[in-house]
Amino acid sequence: MVAKFERTVADYVGAKDGVATVNGTAALHLALRVVGVTLEDEVLVSTLTFIASANAIHYCGAHPVFMDSDEISWNMDPQKLSDFVRDECRFRNNVWRNKTSGRRIAAIVPVHILGHPVDMDPILDVARRYQIPTVEDGAESLGARYKGRSVGSIGDVTCFSFNGNKIVTTGGGGMIVTNNQTLAEAARHLVTQARTDPIEFVHDQVGYNYRLPSLNAALGVAQMEQLESFVKVKRDLGAFYRAAFKEMPGVTFMPEARWAEPTYWVNTILLDRSVSEEDRTRIIGVLNSRSVQAQPRWRPLHRLPVYRGEQAYRVETANDLYRRAISLPSSVALTEAERSYVVERVREALAP
Ligand SMILES: *Cc1c(COP(=O)(O)O)cnc(C)c1O
Repeated sequence: MVAKFERTVADYVGAKDGVATVNGTAALHLALRVVGVTLEDEVLVSTLTFIASANAIHYCGAHPVFMDSDEISWNMDPQKLSDFVRDECRFRNNVWRNKTSGRRIAAIVPVHILGHPVDMDPILDVARRYQIPTVEDGAESLGARYKGRSVGSIGDVTCFSFNGNKIVTTGGGGMIVTNNQTLAEAARHLVTQARTDPIEFVHDQVGYNYRLPSLNAALGVAQMEQLESFVKVKRDLGAFYRAAFKEMPGVTFMPEARWAEPTYWVNTILLDRSVSEEDRTRIIGVLNSRSVQAQPRWRPLHRLPVYRGEQAYRVETANDLYRRAISLPSSVALTEAERSYVVERVREALAP
């Protein structure tokens, strides 16, 4: 069932191969390791994301360098990424090193947040120009498309999650997808303790017990049959919210870039630029008290106590989005009445 699930997901996104893992975090850790991230390296990652994106870097003994979001997609700002490597790094001993820390830049981790793809072309330009591998965190954006290409078939390596809150779930699970056969084989080897002999217990590296159980894979195969219909319902809900919030003073709905076909995994609104973090928290409280499960978005990772010592590069937009964002109920099971209920409660909560 694991092989079948891997084939199903890889075929769906249009990648050559897939390696299933116990969860999305394990997929990220493994992917970073097979692209060569190691002790005292640095990895450039979006600051506005779930903490797993950065933790996987830390598991390799490497340091995250936090990058800002752009306003068009809320994902990694390609211009600032490019500026960072050009202005803050130097080519020495055949690698790009951070001028300040002296550490090697070993990978770039763009994260496709909330179902909206990253503007990958300019990021891949930077990656090619400076010969830095990319590992995309696609955990939230299976089913999304960028200029007609599925997330998972754009860069070198993409990681997905099949956690209970994701668009399709295996209870818990993850996967690396790639067109690079060498990387896929390296990941497949490490995912099962790097065993080299089918009979003898011989291992040539320190691997992991990161293999997805067959039971979960079976669930995944069945779930993948529903992915397209889930995407359709989610896009429909996104369109409903977009229309509803268009005329409402005090809010704007999440962006859909020209080149994007997002899945609207989690629908999110922004309050006015003048709003304070306290106001945003109060409004979420009001919504929760009316049974609307509203949530703040992630606090930018460079501001969390665990990562406060790490470098963040010219972060502005991500802080602004964090202060203003409220995520709204986005389940495929929401009824028409529930959708309208959410919009009405937001209208009330914003009323002066
Ligand atoms: C869910 C998620 C992960 C981690 O996936 P798990 O399966 O929960 O380990 C990684 N990155 C992002 C952006 C996520 O949303």
